[in-house]
This record gives sequence, C-alpha cells and structure tokens, in this order.
Amino acid sequence: MRFHTFNFFCKVFFSAIFSPLILSNHWNHSLEDLDVLIISDHTILQNFNLDTSGFDGIERTFVDPSIKLFEKICTEIGLDAAILNIEDLAPNHSIYSRQQQDIIYNHYDKILLEAAENDVTIISLHLDAEKIEINDFSQIPYPTNEDQESFIYEGGAQLILEQDKFSNETLEFAHRLLFSRFLDLIESQGVTIRPTYQTRLRLQQNISMSIAGQSKGGAILIELGALDELKRLFVTPENIAVNLSDPLRVVANTIAAHRKAHWLK
Ligand SMILES: [Zn+2]
Repeated sequence: MRFHTFNFFCKVFFSAIFSPLILSNHWNHSLEDLDVLIISDHTILQNFNLDTSGFDGIERTFVDPSIKLFEKICTEIGLDAAILNIEDLAPNHSIYSRQQQDIIYNHYDKILLEAAENDVTIISLHLDAEKIEINDFSQIPYPTNEDQESFIYEGGAQLILEQDKFSNETLEFAHRLLFSRFLDLIESQGVTIRPTYQTRLRLQQNISMSIAGQSKGGAILIELGALDELKRLFVTPENIAVNLSDPLRVVANTIAAHRKAHWLK
C-alpha cells in the first residue's frame, strides 16, 4: 500500500519554482497510445522513506523482476505496455529528499489520472505481508483469530480495488481476472491466497487505485503473494518472477480480452 502524507500547497509552490531540478521529463510515453501502465507505487528504500518503500522496505527489490517480466509478456501478446516507477520521474532516476519525493508523488498521480482518462489499463503489482499482529481492529476487517486483545492479519495473493471509486469497466475487469485461472495458477505454484479472497475482491482505501480505477481500460492492485513466503519458495526476486510467469500471462490475456470487448484495441 502507499502511505504518503503531503501538503498540497507546499507541493504546488515548490513544483512551480523548482520543477526542473525535482522532476525530469525522461519518462515520456504517449499515454494516448499506451494499452497497459504497470506501476509499483513504492519507493526504493532510503533514510527518509521507510513508510513508502513497501513491505519491510524491500518490496521493490522483490517485485521489480516480476514487473519487468509482466511488461515483456504484455508486449509479446501485442499490448503496448510501460512501467512507471516513482524514481523514473526524478532527474538521474534518484530521489534525494522527502520534500522532492512528495512533489514527485503528486506528479505521479497526475500521470495516473491522465492514463485513466486515456483508457489505459493500469496494473499495480505488489507483494503482501505474511502475518501481522495488530491491535487496531479497523485495520483488519476479517482477522483470522478471535483473541480480543490483538488481531492477526494473514496476507497472501489477492485482488484489490479502492473501496468506493472505480468505473463499471474496472469492476468488470476485476471480475474477469477474479474468475480467470490467475489465482488457481498462483496457488498451484504453492503460493497462499489470502484467506477467504479466492472468490472475492478486497475493497480498501488506496490512493493510486482511487485514480486509476476510473479508467475504462480497468485497473487493479494485485498482491502476487506474501513476500516472505515467495522468498521461502523461490529464494531470489528473479526466480519469483520466473515462477509467476504463467499467472502473469493470464493477467496479460485478461487485459487483452477486456480491451477488445470495449473496443479499446
Ligand atoms: Zn506494496
């Protein structure tokens, strides 16, 4: 998930004055021509961004090879696909401060909005936490234990939409994927599906999905599995990607079918 705080006025002020130093224009894909935008939302871990760098601060290390492989698979079946990472919007692909990162996230959200307006299918790929004990019940609507003091979140592969902001087409796309072979193939690799999410979507608050979900091309956040479990099963980030290639191929084919059905390709 993406947890970033921001001060809108501060961002607008600084982005107006310092944009050339903070943002770069080297990510310049034409969103009008694009079929699929692949995002990860997270930053690469530095000393000012533990809260945005995903699970244990290492999510990007473990998900990036799967993201690259997914782009390749999309391209192979004729979809025009591109990856957008936060640091792709920074000069030299590196972010040097929290303030700069906040401005870049603001710009990133604008690109997501433009992509959604251009009917691009937006796929956000993540790795989940395996088990977390939390005292706040609101964070875990369906805990797996009945202990009154704390609640255990049991993660795994699952499909997520922002809870109340998505187009009809996004809901349709999400169901196409939910009832495709995607989760079965993930499971056949030994990866755990989040308990009770085999046949339903997870609805929760998510900034990227609240923007991307408006697209007629559909959008979804996919947790490919719990990071620690994937690490136990496949050891390296590259080997995780190799072992998830069949399910990722199903996602690509589902995108192609959805776009064809809506005359978007
Ligand atoms: Zn994540």
